[in-house]
Amino acid sequence: TVQVRRAEKLSGIDGLILPGGESSVMDKLLRLFQMKQPLQERLSEGLPVLGTCAGLILLADEIDGAIAGQETLGGLDVRVQRNAFGSQVESREESVAVAGIEGRPLHVAFIRAPIVTRVGDGVDVIARLDSGDIVGVATPTMIGVSFHPEVSGDDRLHRLFLGIHNYEGPATLVDSLADQPSEKNDGELDEFELGITLEVTKGRQLKDALNHLYTIARQFDCDFVVGIY
Ligand code: GLN
Repeated sequence: TVQVRRAEKLSGIDGLILPGGESSVMDKLLRLFQMKQPLQERLSEGLPVLGTCAGLILLADEIDGAIAGQETLGGLDVRVQRNAFGSQVESREESVAVAGIEGRPLHVAFIRAPIVTRVGDGVDVIARLDSGDIVGVATPTMIGVSFHPEVSGDDRLHRLFLGIHNYEGPATLVDSLADQPSEKNDGELDEFELGITLEVTKGRQLKDALNHLYTIARQFDCDFVVGIY
């Protein structure tokens, strides 16, 4: 995982999460740091993106309740209503069923969240509240949700997002296994501190790469962290 704070970083990524926050501020910063246009280009080329809350607002083609001069990146043919649930004190957690996610509904947080008020052709509705309000939409490369999916520690929406990553081109898995012994045990591999770095270049299904990593990790019986670049 890399944080994309500068336009240069955009060229090396295979997917992007536009998180929650304050869409009007994010919009200003994207323009200030000259990220807006490069990001729009990557999105129009089909860069897979997950937009949560303010991230959904940034992706939407149209917004109601924007502050003066607020723009979006666009690319997702929907209209959203900002702050549709009211102010911060109206924030709440709720369970929401999301199409494509099996099992129990996702437990998520709505924090000054938007709702989707118009859905264009080619955009699927993947989540609604009991009221009927649309709180999740998707296209083949984009997922946009009104809520924060990350607060409960349930990562199923993120996994769904990784599943829509469509790595194209020839399979090129770079097995650069850096078995990094920790310094304190003097070069001796400690099965609990073994670090495995697996570099996945564009072109290999993420799931294949992860399976490969699991196989290796199992041999060492270790915990591991996966960074997706
Ligand atoms: N109300 C915020 C906005 O309009 C979104 C809040 C959030 O991302 N939690 O950008």
